Amino acid sequence: MKLPILTTVLVAAAISTGQGRLQEEPLIIIDQGLGMGLDKEDGSLYEMDKLVAQRGTGLFVKTDLEWDVAADSTMTVSGNGQEWIFPAADYHEEWELIEYTDPELNQWQPGEYLITVKLKDVEYEREVCFQDMKNIRILAVPVTACYSGEIVRLKQLDDSLDDFTRKVYPLGSEDLEWNLYEGEKGIQTLENESADLDTVRGRYNIWRILSAMKKDDYDLVVGFVPKNMRSGKEAEERTLTGFTFGKGTVVISLEDTSPEVTVAHEIGHCYNLGDEYANGTFCLAYNMVPYGMEGKDAQDPLKIVSGNCPYIKGGLGNTMQGTGTIIFKEQYAYDSMTNELIDREMTSLMGLSGYCADEYWCTTDIWNTMYSALAP
Ligand SMILES: [Zn+2]
Repeated sequence: MKLPILTTVLVAAAISTGQGRLQEEPLIIIDQGLGMGLDKEDGSLYEMDKLVAQRGTGLFVKTDLEWDVAADSTMTVSGNGQEWIFPAADYHEEWELIEYTDPELNQWQPGEYLITVKLKDVEYEREVCFQDMKNIRILAVPVTACYSGEIVRLKQLDDSLDDFTRKVYPLGSEDLEWNLYEGEKGIQTLENESADLDTVRGRYNIWRILSAMKKDDYDLVVGFVPKNMRSGKEAEERTLTGFTFGKGTVVISLEDTSPEVTVAHEIGHCYNLGDEYANGTFCLAYNMVPYGMEGKDAQDPLKIVSGNCPYIKGGLGNTMQGTGTIIFKEQYAYDSMTNELIDREMTSLMGLSGYCADEYWCTTDIWNTMYSALAP
């Protein structure tokens, strides 16, 4: 007889201190890379809603409800004539997030879905739409060429150079076609003097050869060279980590701290994204740069423009932090390949290169711009 009374007392105590009761409306968060977007108008965060079919998807609810009250809640996803029920699987206390993700069932067919969560006795709903994206077709070409007359051979490409791009752009698991060059021994060998990576002329010639491989078959050709380059023959140090002369053909050095990030960065340029570092080339309509940062307007290189949105904060650009827009922890960055929330602040992949890959992620603008470009 005593037990029910005890329970009643505890519940009453919890309510009187505000715990166990909902302070704010819970948010249903469908996370494919970024859970929350930053609204540039007022700096508020909103649930990201540009969702992709056939992509690793995290299911969360943000609520201030205590875990012991929410532990038996469920999330129901219905659509395409079917219904799936996911029990609460985990609780991320620091974020106040209940997780319902089932790694075995986390990709969705294209279509509209209704998501329902029952917390205590109240049901909350959200309608979402998962869209099929256009493919990005890439030809990856390992290049052996000269550095100041000396041939430096490139053996094989790391087979995960495309993973970062898959994680940060709105692409389904089959939407990034990463084709390895299939010429002789799988390597494009350019051993003559006219293809010297330490000269502008040589780089142009290499770019031209790679560019001709694009035809109508690929959206982008990415050449990989083994080492950083001298910006000119007289330059002392090898500081050049990549180059392009446009037309969807880029060359990236594997000596770069994070070539996998550079791959995504260069793809971004092909879809109108601008840089996010001082004196870079900006495309503010596609990705706003941090507040106050100055650079050239991509449409008119003689015009100086600057970040004019006070809610877009940039990294410090010191040894630890990149230069691009900060992705706050409260935006719930999510790794769609490992099904894990990312517990750190990061900066935009369109910022300055040279940091380790862990430092970079997509921003709200980057995701939305790429989504507009790739949605049919
Ligand atoms: Zn750039």
